[in-house]
Amino acid sequence: MPEYKTQPLIANYVSGLLPEGERDRRVALTSFDSRADRAKIPAKDVVCYECGRRSRVPAAALSANCVHCHAHLRMTDIELKPNSSRLTVRTLGNVTVLQDANLSQLSIVCHDLLLIGRGSGSFKCSGTLKISSDSKIDGDVYAENLLVERGADVVFVRGVKTGSVEIFGRVSGRIESAGNVVLHRGAELCGNCYAPMLIVKAGASHRGGWQKISPAEVAPLIEEDLP
Ligand SMILES: [Zn+2]
Repeated sequence: MPEYKTQPLIANYVSGLLPEGERDRRVALTSFDSRADRAKIPAKDVVCYECGRRSRVPAAALSANCVHCHAHLRMTDIELKPNSSRLTVRTLGNVTVLQDANLSQLSIVCHDLLLIGRGSGSFKCSGTLKISSDSKIDGDVYAENLLVERGADVVFVRGVKTGSVEIFGRVSGRIESAGNVVLHRGAELCGNCYAPMLIVKAGASHRGGWQKISPAEVAPLIEEDLP
């Protein structure tokens, strides 16, 4: 039986330190410019609905986690049907209340909210709140843009805070806007209006006061306002 002898491994470099050429080769193989690589994936900025801070996420993602508070962020679009039992919705996508719905006690945080059917409750939209139904909304409402369509009759029981307003239908309630409020032909607004500018076009009417305010004077809607 041949004698077994262990052979010491003799490396020609000091343990842990690779020769310069080999080190450069390995670094080139395993590293990439993360910024350049990330730029290839279409991304978008989202604002976390839990902490309000901004995260950058892949544009095609259906959900993500906030990099700040690690909250799970849903990004899908949601449709609320007439028989929907779901009242609380949190998404970075869009929400549609479908035709023939008459949902109350909603609590919705989303990007665009479209009320084709009737909806009432508290709404916070980082995009546009577009209303084409007769809705009496009894909660706190914040929308970056408010659009009330022709034929719609909307009551904001507790008023509405927005970044801009365009009204083609009828609106009752107090409006606080950081941007211009435009009443288009045929529009009716009944309620006090606080905005940098109120534009009442020919064929539109406004009953109530108007007070010129600067955008900074619109008090932000705090999260506690939502149930
Ligand atoms: Zn967050």
